[in-house]
Amino acid sequence: RAKEAGRGTCCFFDGDMDRAVQARRQLEQDLRHTLIRNQLYLVYQPLVCSQSRRVAGYEALVRWKHPERGEVSPGDFIPLAEESGFIIQLGEWVIREACRAASQWPDHITLAVNVSAVQFQVDTLPGIVRDALAASGFDPRRLEIEITESVLMRDRDAALATLHRLKADGVRIAMDDFGTGYSSLSNLQAFPFDKIKIDRSFVSSLDSDDAARSIIRAIVGLGRGLNLPVVAEGVETEAQHRMVAEEGCAQAQGYLFGRPSRDLAEGMGQAAAPVPSVAPILVAAPAA
Ligand code: C2E
Ligand code: MG
Ligand code: MG
Ligand code: MG
Repeated sequence: RAKEAGRGTCCFFDGDMDRAVQARRQLEQDLRHTLIRNQLYLVYQPLVCSQSRRVAGYEALVRWKHPERGEVSPGDFIPLAEESGFIIQLGEWVIREACRAASQWPDHITLAVNVSAVQFQVDTLPGIVRDALAASGFDPRRLEIEITESVLMRDRDAALATLHRLKADGVRIAMDDFGTGYSSLSNLQAFPFDKIKIDRSFVSSLDSDDAARSIIRAIVGLGRGLNLPVVAEGVETEAQHRMVAEEGCAQAQGYLFGRPSRDLAEGMGQAAAPVPSVAPILVAAPAA
């Protein structure tokens, strides 16, 4: 059993210990080595203007190439990293690396980075962001920090203070996965968001469920009243895109426009070249 769990595992193995628990523990240990072993990388998924379909920006999404298990999904390792506290280091790497890559992009392209609730619980985040911006020369106004409502459920005052510090530096804040968390409406009023991203569960149920469209309409209306642009995430089909565009979502994101991709970000440095081969969608010129 111990052998099965692999190298690097210390300790004892309780005969009753669940395999899943062991595997999880192993993964958590492996995770701690990802940074020094260069196993993490970022992929970038476009956000497009709903009307023109031009790329407005990219969201950075972290990936882990595990030497034995292959690609591990962030849905599996982000929660582990949050539990162990490693998310602080991982998150700092993501911010620095994303700003470094994005500093090579054309000026009109924005960068979105996801930040976990745990990163908000320590007060180092604004300083880390500021350092990453300074080191890369990336314009703070082109950076968007995506947070979910879980950030606001912990220490609300601390979260608010952190958000204000980020905003004072010119960074924008997007509410991610909107509609899935708790007390969404009061959060929108109490926190200084610049954008709302509708969770993809609403978009994916558009095809089968009339209520989904009503919910999207209501969120867009809310955004209008609060002066916040609304983004639809998880747009996979033309029919979904037509509906979210008709409902007034300013931007859209999803496999229809582009999957998260690795090459494109580095390739963007040559976006001046006539026809970028990796991402035809980028051929669109900046909206003059
Ligand atoms: P998210 O921020 O809501 O990111 C959107 C997720 O939906 C991504 O999954 C993306 O690949 C996926 N997606 C995008 N378009 C479509 C589509 O059309 N259809 C479907 N079915 N899926 C689509 P991913 O990359 O697996 O990331 C999952 C979550 O992990 C993210 O949700 C985010 O909460 C978290 N995450 C990813 N990278 C980071 C990071 O660097 N830091 C932190 N704290 N969290 C991250
Ligand atoms: Mg996100
Ligand atoms: Mg999201
Ligand atoms: Mg989501």
